Amino acid sequence: MEELKSRAMSCVKCPNLAASRKNVVFGVGNIDSPLMFVGEAPGADEDAQGEPFVGKAGELLTKIIQTMGFSRESIYIANVLKCRPDTPGQTAGNRKPTSDEMKTCLPYLLEQIDIIKPRVIVALGATAVEGLFGKPMPISKIRGTWQTFHDTPVMPTFHPAYLLRNQALSEKRKVWEDMLQVLQKLDAPISEKQRGYFLKA
Ligand code: URA
Repeated sequence: MEELKSRAMSCVKCPNLAASRKNVVFGVGNIDSPLMFVGEAPGADEDAQGEPFVGKAGELLTKIIQTMGFSRESIYIANVLKCRPDTPGQTAGNRKPTSDEMKTCLPYLLEQIDIIKPRVIVALGATAVEGLFGKPMPISKIRGTWQTFHDTPVMPTFHPAYLLRNQALSEKRKVWEDMLQVLQKLDAPISEKQRGYFLKA
């Protein structure tokens, strides 16, 4: 993994992203984890710190992971795109990675998956799903339904940033039900309390 990381850290396949990034955001966590979370691309906080999911959405992801009964350190977190999408002429804001950028970067994720060999991948949001499968798929239709990426079961769910924008209990419950499916697939223990989360306020 260190050899792969050092290759990614000096990557200039997307010259515009290589020029604008502060850090390559390779991935973090336990390389022996049976569970891997995959997001779309680093935002400003991640670019600044060189670690995926450390901003507001990341805090929520960490909470989800802990509610599942894991620690953030015990699992592995990465993005499809390892560099922050540039926004020339703008000082703030995010843009969705282009499909070319995601295609160019995907081999790094594939190698990460090959090394980690997770039993389950959770794909966070429509863009991560599009990056993995190379085509847009409607996230509200396919979330909660098992997909397969190179022989690994993938559970697509909503991106935590979506849950921050839409605070409805029903949306939290949908993501939670997806995580319960993940726990079941991993043969991880599920308490009665866990089963009941986000059913009523
Ligand atoms: N959103 C993502 O998809 N990935 C991150 O690392 C942070 C926010």
